[in-house]
Amino acid sequence: MATTVDVDPRSSAILEGIAAHVTPQQFETWFRPLTLEFVPPDEIRIAVPNRFHQVWIERRYQAVVADAVRQLAGVTPRLVFAVNEALGAHLAPVGAEEQDEFPAEAEIEADGGGIDAADAVSQILNPDYTFENFVVGPSNNFCHAAAKAVAEQPGETYNPLFIHGNSGLGKTHLLQALCHLLEARHQKVMYLSCEDFTNHFINAIESGSLESFRWRYRHADVLAIDDVHFLAEKERTQEEFFHTFNSLYNQQKQIILSSDRHPKDIADLEERLVSRFKWGLVIRLDAPPLETRIAIVKKKARMRGVDLGDMAAHYIGEHVKENVRELEGAVNRVIYLARLGGREFDMDLLREALADLMPARMKSGPGLSDVLRVVADRFGIRATEIQSRKQTKSVVYPRQVCMYLARMCTQSSLEEIGAHFGGRDHTTVHYGIRKVEKMVAHDQDLKRVVDDLFGALTGHGR
Ligand code: ADP
Ligand code: MG
Repeated sequence: MATTVDVDPRSSAILEGIAAHVTPQQFETWFRPLTLEFVPPDEIRIAVPNRFHQVWIERRYQAVVADAVRQLAGVTPRLVFAVNEALGAHLAPVGAEEQDEFPAEAEIEADGGGIDAADAVSQILNPDYTFENFVVGPSNNFCHAAAKAVAEQPGETYNPLFIHGNSGLGKTHLLQALCHLLEARHQKVMYLSCEDFTNHFINAIESGSLESFRWRYRHADVLAIDDVHFLAEKERTQEEFFHTFNSLYNQQKQIILSSDRHPKDIADLEERLVSRFKWGLVIRLDAPPLETRIAIVKKKARMRGVDLGDMAAHYIGEHVKENVRELEGAVNRVIYLARLGGREFDMDLLREALADLMPARMKSGPGLSDVLRVVADRFGIRATEIQSRKQTKSVVYPRQVCMYLARMCTQSSLEEIGAHFGGRDHTTVHYGIRKVEKMVAHDQDLKRVVDDLFGALTGHGR
């Protein structure tokens, strides 16, 4: 089905410019299908095969496209998208969440392909990390209120907003909730981990592209950097970040930061950064009290379509105290065990599920390398392949099963899981887990395999 599209001659020049800044694979996936039309003075009309494609380009590659246009035409473009389904006729549907079958190769490649540290301008936000899904209580109501206030008047109320607190208490969730809201209000939001910022900076130095690095970060309306304690002892990154900070601050752009400790406690953080971090509002997240924990347990269960009942929610809330991530892990485990054996959420089940989460037992519980070993064995491929960046179906599939089992059986965070299984970021891990969850729901054979492996890892087999 051939459609005639009037291709602007500059379209191919811009595409060439883009090709110089992305991997060939990314180019094939995201840019080859596009047609671009230049409308003076500064508008670029981009025909995309579908909405998902558009969102992906907007979020990940906006700066790359803008760079290419600026080099060619000397203007910073306004990007206007139009969906033209005919363009994507030869492509596998990308990111269609409702698809139940295993993702097509193009989708997988695209999924992994866009997120190399070097080009991860901004990470995609976790769709579950919204204000609606955040339970407010005495331990976090100030942080919650501050984030909401920033959403109302970004750049004006508290700038920067600096949220600190121990691991697993909801810093990332809150930051992303705020980013979601600001995005919905048409702010150009850039969210990324401090580690990605650092890697991106190092890559920019190595490849001599500091200019475009700076341009990217200094043209956001909102810059959210997660885990800035990562700046500890990194002098050059601190210096660069200092200038990024100043540039945005002077333009009254909103800066949002999180850290596992107060700015003054970050090792060797330059005084001028410490003082800037305190210009706005520095606020702490604490561990939630019992009532909040129970409410969180109920919410997490409901999000997975389960009503746990008061007794079970209370029991879980009572036993996992310090860390909401672990609380969530306990909920997942309880639900999983119940489904596995077709059981009720009774005391037996709860005890059994939580026994594994108790610290003493946890130490001897399965680790990521155990998960890797049993999955590699079962699928008959080498562990090193699972840990590689290879994207063929025969590797991606077991890798996603690893991610799923790791989430179920270990206490590892999405980041840790991603790092262990092929250097993926948390978004990819999240996606992989969802995928397996869906497949398990429909595919009895796979469910049996996964149950078996779960049993082998935890001793809870049937
Ligand atoms: P941190 O970044 O502080 O280490 P996260 O934001 O990653 O912690 O939170 C860990 C997990 O706990 C996430 O899945 C998050 O959704 C959940 N969580 C934390 N606090 C809350 C809360 N108040 N309500 C709901 N979920 C929460
Ligand atoms: Mg975090």
